Amino acid sequence: MSGLRGGIDLGGTKIQTVIVDRGGTVRGEARQPTPTSGGPADVARAMEDALREAASAAGVKPEDLSGVGVGSPGDADGKTGVVSGARNLPGWDGSFALGETLSKALGTEVGIGNDVQVATEAEFQLGAAREFSSLIGVFWGTGVGGGLVLDGKPWLGRGAAGEIGHVVVKRGGAKCPCGRKGCLEAYAGRSAMEAEARRQHEEGHKTDLFKLMEKHEKPRLTSGIWERALDHGDHMAKKLIERAVEALGTGIASAVNLLDPEAVIIGGGLGIRFGERLMEPLAAEMGKHLFVDERPPAIRVASLGDLGGAIGASLLVSR
Ligand SMILES: [Zn+2]
Repeated sequence: MSGLRGGIDLGGTKIQTVIVDRGGTVRGEARQPTPTSGGPADVARAMEDALREAASAAGVKPEDLSGVGVGSPGDADGKTGVVSGARNLPGWDGSFALGETLSKALGTEVGIGNDVQVATEAEFQLGAAREFSSLIGVFWGTGVGGGLVLDGKPWLGRGAAGEIGHVVVKRGGAKCPCGRKGCLEAYAGRSAMEAEARRQHEEGHKTDLFKLMEKHEKPRLTSGIWERALDHGDHMAKKLIERAVEALGTGIASAVNLLDPEAVIIGGGLGIRFGERLMEPLAAEMGKHLFVDERPPAIRVASLGDLGGAIGASLLVSR
């Protein structure tokens, strides 16, 4: 045994892999685009390739690792290694034995966990939340995901805890990608924000968002495009980001009222890009709804960046 562990963050657009040593230092990494066609077996093969590439960068063979952890979207069952309903991955509406498949292919033990939960645990063990024993991780990106650590331990509920994106911030409000109404994600998720911008643009409201998207040859309104538009003083971008921050403050404050954690960690594509810049308005929006407002929780931006999910996945090995 080399004492090295592998971590795989399985995302809708990319597969990020790392090889990490006992101290949490990254010794090798690789990334590949997530297949956009085929099915779970094709995605598993791309994951295997990306992990082999990271292992080779770290000078180790996959079978010599102490194990490999996977942070997965959808319903990821840590006991069986089965992933179900990962709808942002090709052909993955049903169930697939991802853990078993990868374990056979790589010749080492494979653990499966929820992608956002493992990223929260990575921040708790190695990142921005090391000094705290209770925290809410809020991952503000395409959707809004969440993870919980309470009294130093991950809180998974019955397997579905932490879905802060579907905390209701407005009864009967905007339609959420989940099909319900008024969820936090319906106002703050990147997909929902893009849909709203498109709707307003088609109604004739002015914005440079879509011009910037074409100019920079992006297929969607990325966090970088939103930032550029804000820097250009784009009115619609400013309004929609303000609306997102208002919803985030409302939803996070409601969760804080229930759990009273020491810290809130903001990660995800938009969270990492805007976290520092929007920290004050976010704290102000939260402050409006905090029941005990004289000692609000610390708010920090996730510090492990893009690799946080994969590093967190590697922590599943020692669990
Ligand atoms: Zn929802």
